[in-house]
Amino acid sequence: MSSPEKTKVTILGSTGSVGVNALKVIEANQDQFEVVGLTAHRNIELLSEQIRRFRPKAAAVGDAEDGERLAHLLGGHAVEIGTGVEALIRCATQAEVHVVVSAIVGAAGLVPTLSAVEAGKRVALANKETLVMAGRLVMAEAQRCGAEIIPVDSEHSAVYQCLAGEKRNRIRRIILTASGGPFHGRSREEMAHITPREALRHPRWEMGQKITIDSATLMNKGLEVIEARWLFDLAAEQVDIVIHPESIVHSMVEFGDGSVLAQMGLPDMRTPIAYALGYPRRLETGLSPLNLVAEGPLTFHEPDRQSFSCIDLAYEAIAADGLMPTVLNAANEVAVSAFLKKKIAFLQIPDLISETMACFEAKDYTTVEDVLRTDLKARKTMRELIAQKGL
Ligand code: NAD
Ligand code: MG
Repeated sequence: MSSPEKTKVTILGSTGSVGVNALKVIEANQDQFEVVGLTAHRNIELLSEQIRRFRPKAAAVGDAEDGERLAHLLGGHAVEIGTGVEALIRCATQAEVHVVVSAIVGAAGLVPTLSAVEAGKRVALANKETLVMAGRLVMAEAQRCGAEIIPVDSEHSAVYQCLAGEKRNRIRRIILTASGGPFHGRSREEMAHITPREALRHPRWEMGQKITIDSATLMNKGLEVIEARWLFDLAAEQVDIVIHPESIVHSMVEFGDGSVLAQMGLPDMRTPIAYALGYPRRLETGLSPLNLVAEGPLTFHEPDRQSFSCIDLAYEAIAADGLMPTVLNAANEVAVSAFLKKKIAFLQIPDLISETMACFEAKDYTTVEDVLRTDLKARKTMRELIAQKGL
């Protein structure tokens, strides 16, 4: 039942790993939240179940055919169904929406997320690609439009929580933790024949395919460095990475006085999602308590930047600035998808991204159209490289 005091939420990408967890958090706090928009790309069956359960007013799917399938599955259930980017934007900007959970994967998240920002919404941001592609523009728009961007990415949520009540000018650095993925400790030679199946087996987190491969190459951490640079307005040199295979410490902030604050919790996305939805209140998630004794020793290691060269590619992209992170992101998305289709080898992911970056200059940009144009160009370059050099 709708009641005026409830926080109204749209979830972009509700059928994905983050989207499903966001709905779990909302279900556990039904008295406080109402779902008004849900969107999905291909998983129409799950979307139709979610619509029956949460009764949003609007829904968006990829194309007209999926729209018809959804309408058929829903029978007479009243929901406004739209298709394509326009419908995503409509869901993200409905006047009554308070919070937009940005949980689409990849570059497809940029335009709808930016539209939520420009509508002055609170954006619970999981789609890190938005900030990687267009961080300067998105953060400036957020300020101009009075939109709050609260990170859902666990590391950035940890930093956000550690910064509550702190003066930003006393931050010495932030330390992003990384699980290291399934291949932590392996040399480059030992990673030559990795299959998609092996790379999709993440030791600590259950996530969508793209981010799981990004976690195996450590590109995910590289993208997170760029995300953190924009979110917290830091120089890239102030963002460090440490490998922490247990994934209990989600990240840390070091201050000028030598204090280091860390945020800890079980590796479960419901905690950072709940923080972003409820901020500054804390919500109930129903998660079992963290038992540090049972978790065993917590360990920290230097990342192996030679074997996992995606980290340095991300630092290079941010140092070059302008549209270079857009190129990095686009090249990575195409490479990950080619790897999953067995068109390139695991180690070709960083190698071909590096080659793609070498084909571009780090031009400045002012509009989202500039960003989207470069995104397309970089994809084309990467596809050509894959055609020449792929398996
Ligand atoms: P996922 O693949 O499980 O889900 C992606 C969602 O996006 C689905 O609902 C899908 O329908 C939708 N989608 C895909 N392509 C689309 C398109 N072209 N247009 C519109 N919608 C589209 O992904 P995920 O693991 O939930 O990750 C989502 C985002 O959150 C990513 O940016 C990821 O980096 C970030 N993230 C995820 C996790 C995690 O635990 N899964 C943690 C931190 C950050
Ligand atoms: Mg993360």
